Amino acid sequence: VKRVFSGFQPTGDLHIGNYLGAMVNYIALGEKLGQDAIYCIVDYHAPTNPAAYDKDLLAQRTFDAALVNMAAGLDPSKVILFVQSHVPEHIELAWVFSTQTPYGDLTRMTQFKDKAAKLQSVPAGLLMYPVLMAADILLYKADTVPVGDDQIQHLELTREIARRWNLEYGETFPEPQGYLNPHAPRVPGIDGKAKMSKSVGNTIGLLEDEESIWAKIRTMPDDPARIRLSDPGDPERSVVFKFLQYFAPPELVQVLREEYRRRGIGTLVVKQLLMQEMMKTLRPIRERAEELRAHPEQVLGALEEGAAKARRIAQATMEEVREKFGLLRPK
Ligand code: ATP
Ligand code: MG
Repeated sequence: VKRVFSGFQPTGDLHIGNYLGAMVNYIALGEKLGQDAIYCIVDYHAPTNPAAYDKDLLAQRTFDAALVNMAAGLDPSKVILFVQSHVPEHIELAWVFSTQTPYGDLTRMTQFKDKAAKLQSVPAGLLMYPVLMAADILLYKADTVPVGDDQIQHLELTREIARRWNLEYGETFPEPQGYLNPHAPRVPGIDGKAKMSKSVGNTIGLLEDEESIWAKIRTMPDDPARIRLSDPGDPERSVVFKFLQYFAPPELVQVLREEYRRRGIGTLVVKQLLMQEMMKTLRPIRERAEELRAHPEQVLGALEEGAAKARRIAQATMEEVREKFGLLRPK
């Protein structure tokens, strides 16, 4: 691992899936790599899904995404944290790549199909999403991308784009690999079904009110096979246990599993413990978020510095790309 790049879309409140799937690794890799850990709030991605985009909320959500990352422990004086639209080279490289990427490679992307199926009118930008994502990563010549497993297919395409470019225009880009959190590659939504996603509304927000979180956990489905209270429960089938594993010490989870199987305890008790254990992780994040909220200049200042650092790398790569691509360079 030499250089890491990853990003969040400002499409809504960041949730525990984002935290466990991506942010935990952002922080760990950032500690190791410093300025070679590059994290971006990818605001130009947000409008590709009209269901999750609102021009009146975009700027605030972008700010909040940066704030939550900082509150969770990402130190912007160590890593590079910035906003995509502050570095216009992302869009420029995406255009270059779009001319080199078969249309059919994009229409077969699962995320495109899923999101497009829910829309009346599908923006061309939604199809282009993985090309912009490839540009985001390759602009920094990153070799490692901490993500949830929903992004693995997009990363395959990124590698194909890099490979194709290198063959045609000379060795330029590494072929980046995904970096998953083995404990939480795909956090399910609170209904236990689809992946937890900002745009689906099945989330537990990192900064969500405690009462609101409890209301969601309280009504989370149990093992669907457990109909009567006297039926034994299967912790493997319960999304409550899945969540508990993310937050509680393994010994506690083990004891509760046994009890649940023997139906020595009801789901409500497990849910109460889940709430308690989860809040141990979330509480310090909220406290730091509140402090940062009182000092927005700290967040904005960090983003400004981050963009300046990112731009230096991005400009150098883009100059190389323009040259190799055969454009007439100005005197
Ligand atoms: P949207 O619904 O707008 O696509 P999202 O919740 O999927 O939002 P993204 O901003 O697309 O969030 O993804 C940010 C990062 O979080 C990515 O690395 C993604 O793989 C990861 N991630 C998102 N949801 C989950 C999840 N449920 N489990 C694990 N990782 C996730
Ligand atoms: Mg997503």
